[in-house]
Amino acid sequence: MTTGKVKGIISNLVTVGVDGPVAQNEICYILLNNVRLMAEVLKVNKDNVFVQVFESTRGLKVGDSVEFTGHMLEVTLGPGMLSRNYDGLQNDLDKMEGVFLRRGEYNFPLDEERLWNFKPLAKAGDRVEAASWLGEVDENFQPHRIMVPFAMEGSYTVKSVALAGQYKIKDTIAVITDSDGVDHEINMIQKWPVKKAINVHTEKPRPFRLLETGVRIIDTANPIVEGGTGFIPGPFGTGKTVLQHAISKQADADIVIMAACGERANEVVEIFVEFPELVDPHTGRKLMERTIIIANTSNMPVAAREASVYTAMTIAEYYRAMGLKVLLMADSTSRWAQALREMSNRMEELPGQDAFPMDLSAIIGAFYSRAGFVYLKNGKSGSITFIGTVSPAGGNLKEPVTEGTKKVARCFYALEQSRADRKRYPAVNPIDSYSKYIEYPEFEEYIHTKIEGDWIGKVNKLKTFLQRGKEVQEQINILGDDGVPVDYHVTFWKSEALDFVILQQDAFDAIDSVCPLERQEYMLNLMMDICDREFHFDDFNAVSAFFKPLINLCRQMNYSEFHSEKFEDYRHQLDEMLANIK
Ligand code: ADP
Ligand code: MG
Repeated sequence: MTTGKVKGIISNLVTVGVDGPVAQNEICYILLNNVRLMAEVLKVNKDNVFVQVFESTRGLKVGDSVEFTGHMLEVTLGPGMLSRNYDGLQNDLDKMEGVFLRRGEYNFPLDEERLWNFKPLAKAGDRVEAASWLGEVDENFQPHRIMVPFAMEGSYTVKSVALAGQYKIKDTIAVITDSDGVDHEINMIQKWPVKKAINVHTEKPRPFRLLETGVRIIDTANPIVEGGTGFIPGPFGTGKTVLQHAISKQADADIVIMAACGERANEVVEIFVEFPELVDPHTGRKLMERTIIIANTSNMPVAAREASVYTAMTIAEYYRAMGLKVLLMADSTSRWAQALREMSNRMEELPGQDAFPMDLSAIIGAFYSRAGFVYLKNGKSGSITFIGTVSPAGGNLKEPVTEGTKKVARCFYALEQSRADRKRYPAVNPIDSYSKYIEYPEFEEYIHTKIEGDWIGKVNKLKTFLQRGKEVQEQINILGDDGVPVDYHVTFWKSEALDFVILQQDAFDAIDSVCPLERQEYMLNLMMDICDREFHFDDFNAVSAFFKPLINLCRQMNYSEFHSEKFEDYRHQLDEMLANIK
């Protein structure tokens, strides 16, 4: 094994003189008194190696010893990850005191003693390869497949599979024989380097199946799909975290992975307090049962922050290989990019725009492309839907992280300061935001199996009404209420109705916070029906006098249980109102 000596230290960046071969991204440990500090190789320059240390380098001295491990930063994959809180290096935060690790402390991320109820899926004589399903255990009511480790190349013959029963993760559950006749014992865990994508699928087609999130401005106006990508840029306090939490609470996914990357410590602590309380609206079970949180706060060293999004993605890929629908969230990817920037600057690399690394855009692209909808070798499908937030400094959407992300993410949910200021939540700008999936013919075909009629046509019309509303509003602002035809006011109030009833949604109301697709369909049909009518009013005051109570009634419907007596009563009042108008 290669060893080395510390030669220079700049914050978390350490130069090490080495006596043997070292690989890019290899993990090493720096021995400091009685603790071993984990570090990752960033750059190799002959016998000088630059490593980033995952924690504070306080007290480190020139001449301290370094041991290289010969492997990259890895995660340990196996049953028992659900409901856990990890840091970016997959340390189990619940095994620590408080949220913060003691220096040099790394712990095993799974439970070695727990018994799992194993059921075989393969049998002796079967031909298998990396990622083939050998058996499964129940992990919080999710089928957790035990697979041939991804790193095992070539094909194998199953010699034996354990009988159904109770096993620990390190027990052998299968023996497989390679082409040279050598037996390999397989247990329930495997390791995988986080920076390498797990590619065990046969095909990665364009994703097209709607992923219901329960958020109207997404599902109705800018839908995301299973295996799709989206991002939420927005200045501080405009509702990125609230929107992402709303999606993760409600989305129709088997597994939710939250990478809380470098936002302020108190926000991350909020996740730990809030999530365990949440109930899954689909199953009535605790949401945390299907959730994994990977948290790093900005007061943890940058290197650990950088690792956390990769750790989260790798765990997501592991569950996708089991044929599950995974939703991955990262809040915020700007902190991740800042970590990249800090490291690149310390290494004195030639800086790109705003001092970010030159290849920032490529790094973001490579990361987003790990998401996706895949067909597995056994014909089943799995997906990772990825939604990241971006916090552009000063709300400037021309900065490199936003621009780099816009190139790769297919859905764009732009949060707007002025909407947030007016408490129009979620503050997603309805005109600038988009979903590219809505243009896919596969998507349209799929949506027809769920919703009758010309749904896409209605959605496009919704956007046209909103756009027209915005245009006439500008004219009214300039020319005055009397300076424009009364029709302009009707156009404006129609778009206000759509804004208040469809776009706005209260994330903190028990009913309004989750809007199932069926209900979204009902509301869009209702509102389109209203907007398609021609109204004739004598003056502009009459227009607002009509629309204000109408909007109020529709909002009351949003706050009532779907099809309840109250709901139907509001609908009835609305119909009467519409019947009494010319
Ligand atoms: P960011 O993550 O962009 O800094 P947050 O998600 O923390 O912003 O949101 C800031 C505040 O905005 C929240 O505490 C909440 O009061 C309000 N808010 C955001 N979205 C909604 C919503 N959908 N419904 C109600 N209030 C919201
Ligand atoms: Mg936030």
